[in-house]
This record gives sequence, C-alpha cells and structure tokens, in this order.
Amino acid sequence: MNRFTAVCLALLLAFGCTVTAFAADSGSYGAYSHVVIVGIDGAGRFIRQAHTPNFDRLFKDGAVDYTARTETKTDSGPNWGAMLTGASFLKTKMENGTVSSVQRTSDTKYPSVFNVVRQAMPDSALASYVNWNAINYGIIETDIGVEEVNITDDNALTDAICAYFDAGNTPTLFFVQLDSVDGAGHSYGSGSTEYFAAIETADGYLGRIFDALERNDMLDDTLLIVAADHGHKLRGGHGRFSMRETNTTIAVRGKTVISGGTMDKCTRTRDVAAIALYALGVERPDSMTSRVPANVFVDVRGERRAIYKDPFDAVTSALAWIVTLCTAWI
Ligand SMILES: [Zn+2]
Repeated sequence: MNRFTAVCLALLLAFGCTVTAFAADSGSYGAYSHVVIVGIDGAGRFIRQAHTPNFDRLFKDGAVDYTARTETKTDSGPNWGAMLTGASFLKTKMENGTVSSVQRTSDTKYPSVFNVVRQAMPDSALASYVNWNAINYGIIETDIGVEEVNITDDNALTDAICAYFDAGNTPTLFFVQLDSVDGAGHSYGSGSTEYFAAIETADGYLGRIFDALERNDMLDDTLLIVAADHGHKLRGGHGRFSMRETNTTIAVRGKTVISGGTMDKCTRTRDVAAIALYALGVERPDSMTSRVPANVFVDVRGERRAIYKDPFDAVTSALAWIVTLCTAWI
C-alpha cells in the first residue's frame, strides 16, 4: 500500500476505535474465582509462528489476538505497567528505569489490578511470580499483601509456581512474567531460530503451569490470560514503532470465553486489566482507560475506551499507529 492509503487507513482505524461503543451485559461479570495471567516478555506477535503445542491446546477453545497494540513506547515497564494498571504509560510514567528504581505503594494515582482487587476483596490471596523483579517493586504495590516472588531463571520460576499451586493455594489473582524470550530477542532478533526456540521453551513452561492448575482442580473457575508486552525488531531490540515491536499477543481462555474468538482491532495491552477485573466482578477505577474488547466473552460485545480521560494518549497512539503503518514494509 502507498503512504497516502496507509495514513487514511490509520486515521480511519483510530477514529473507529474512538467511537465504537457497544453495551456490555452481565453473565461473564464475576463468573470467575481466579484469574491467572502468564506474561511472556518480548514474545510479541511471534507465538503464532512458533511451534507451541501447549499454547495451541490451551487456546483452541479460547479467544486470541496476535495484533494487540502496545503502548506508545514498546518497552517492558510501559507495557507490564499498562497491563497491570489499565492506564497509559503517559499517565503512569512507568519507564523501565522508574519501575526499577521507584518503589510503588498503595498511595498511587494509578492502582494496579492487585490493589483494586485487594480493596474489593480484603481477604483474597494475591500473588506475583516474576523473573524481572522491577514488576514486583515498581508496578505492583509493595504494601498490599501480594505474595511477591522474584526468581531470575524461568525454569526455576516455573518450579516455584507449580509448587505454589500444588501446596493448595487458590489465589484470586496470580501474575507470572517469564523473561527468557526477551533475552533471546535482544541477542538474536525476532527473525532468528534462537528466538523461536526460546518461545518454544516458554511454551513448555506455560504447559507446566496449566497442568498445575488442572491437577489442582482450578480450571473450571479460572480465567487464564497469556500476554506479551512487546515484540522485537528483526535483528533484536525494541522501544520504537515497527510492526514487529508494536503487535503483540493476548490470549484468553475460560468457561465464558468465545471459542475461536478474535478480539477487535482496537485491543491494547492495557486491556488485560479490564478483562481480569471483569472476570472477577470487580469495578474498574476511574484511573483506567482499559476496556473489555469485543469477541472475548460470549456475552460482551465490547466496551468503549474512555479516551476523554487521556486525550494526549489517544493522539499520540494514533500518531504511533500511522508511523507503524507508514513503515510496515521496512
Ligand atoms: Zn519486555
């Protein structure tokens, strides 16, 4: 496509995403006792092209989007931050450096989903098991009783997660971040066999986590989300606007999820927060510009994004979209 067509398409898409609004209905709202989010750092849209037998078996009856849009900065802090707070990184200012160095506590203007669930369900069990410890330091509040575990080896981290479920723990909200795919992306790029091998290894960890849920009888009441925060350039690295960096995966599985659903084109990483809170029946706070996309839950046609709360983000996101389309063939 030529540049004029690309710009027109981007403007149409951006406009469509701002005005599309459908009424939500009840049914899936609060239908789940547990939400488990498994984050695969740096996997972007590339899970689709890798050999992932576990992902495939988990989500053959689920809703999957490989073109969910990242924040306007395709780094880990901005996107894990957006997924967990439901707000744009322009608001949360969760850069990699800040989440690594500034401890987050419950007095924040942009509460994480953990904080929101804690307020709604004071006695709930909440846990976050991550490889990149900045998530448990600078994104999830450290003073709200979340069991925060940091293990800088994905295999050992998976062992600890399985042990947690095998010990009989049944958390209301559980977050995982695997990091080795991102390491392979930085070293070799998203066109490399090493990168795809790392995705396939992460798929093995995902399978082990899923099996732990299954053998502990948690599946019936669990909404499982697998999400990637950003992708990688062909030769490695991220942070900018290319398709390889800005298109990413969100997959959802649960008893009220549309089998074979394809989320609408306005889906963003931050929408993980809305999907999780909706499943648990917890109201979203005003700080969020997160929405439940269409074609996730059987009874939800898709929600309006509250862009009036964050117009600067809406404008910069549309501009980023245009840059992505104008450089799609690079
Ligand atoms: Zn990342």
